[in-house]
Amino acid sequence: QIVATGICRTDDHVLEGHFVDVDFPVIPGHEGAGIVESVGEGVTSVKPGDKVIPLCIPHCGQCSFCRNPESNFCLKSHFSEPQNLMPDKTSRFTCKGKQIHHYLWLSTFAEYTVIPEYAVAKIDPAAPLDKVCLIGCGFSTGYGAAVNTAKVKPGSTCAIFGLGGVGLSVIMGCKVAGASRIIAVDINKDKFAKAKELGATDCVNPRDFQKPVEEVLTEMTGHGVDYSFEVIGHADTMVAALASCNMNTGVCVMVGVAPAGSMISFDPVLVLCGRTWKGTLLGGGKARDFIPKLVSSYLEKKFDLDLLITHMLPIAKVNEGFELLRAGK
Ligand code: NAD
Ligand code: ZN
Ligand code: ZN
Repeated sequence: QIVATGICRTDDHVLEGHFVDVDFPVIPGHEGAGIVESVGEGVTSVKPGDKVIPLCIPHCGQCSFCRNPESNFCLKSHFSEPQNLMPDKTSRFTCKGKQIHHYLWLSTFAEYTVIPEYAVAKIDPAAPLDKVCLIGCGFSTGYGAAVNTAKVKPGSTCAIFGLGGVGLSVIMGCKVAGASRIIAVDINKDKFAKAKELGATDCVNPRDFQKPVEEVLTEMTGHGVDYSFEVIGHADTMVAALASCNMNTGVCVMVGVAPAGSMISFDPVLVLCGRTWKGTLLGGGKARDFIPKLVSSYLEKKFDLDLLITHMLPIAKVNEGFELLRAGK
């Protein structure tokens, strides 16, 4: 039973048709929290009544990637086996007799869903599901991009391109990691107040300048930031984020999802000088360990997830939620 779900921009990419491997009709949604209503044969890690978060990157624990301590990418994920059904290639959803597809094993824009055991994590029973649903994707992705993927060091300088739910979570991760300067970049200046509340020390609107944003950031910091994060999903801002970090020791993390078929062209000298360009999925942590730990850290008040919540709507108004997202609210 799904009790609460967030809206991530990735769900909007699905609706906009940006992914070639999504079959319609489909129930999207991948940032949820719920309660196990019943389990199938052989399921041992959860039982009815358990509070859980569905995992958009599963964690089977058995495959070669799961057994590699460095990896959080399970071979049972949709990136290795794109399909919009259950693992047995059937659907559990129908509407008026017609089959509806699943999305990322999860389909959280529903009151009830069926999920494989390896794509669900049991969490602390004290967790408020209407808050910790954000740990299902946006928060964990942003926070983990800073602490796991970039491994931000104390005293460092960071720049975050894009201040949606995910980018704001990167700011929270940079702050917890001890960054001394956190530069928030967005073309929507209405995002700056929340960014500052969460730990940004400077805010930059690229539209306020004639020169490219990477030049602005390089001038502000001397030689570029130590860590930059692209949390928008555009090819041009991905290159701008790369060019904004220190030419020799800078690390740039790609978090945003570009539309399928997008290509990037960039001057190879940007990387030749020593910069590191990395990507992250769900913040780089092994999901069945990382997600329950983040829920516990939230309950211990290590970060304030509640600040990310701008609106609460009943599921019947999910399309209004998308309108708010597209309006930058
Ligand atoms: P969002 O739409 O809420 O936020 C994007 C922000 O970028 C907005 O504030 C927008 O004003 C800003 N922006 C747009 N164009 C810009 C530009 N040219 N320069 C500066 N800012 C600009 O999205 P979100 O839910 O925070 O998701 C962000 C991205 O992360 C999406 O592409 C999403 O698909 C992706 N994502 C990736 C993962 C992962 O595992 N890697 C997980 C979740 C989301
Ligand atoms: Zn997401
Ligand atoms: Zn696996």
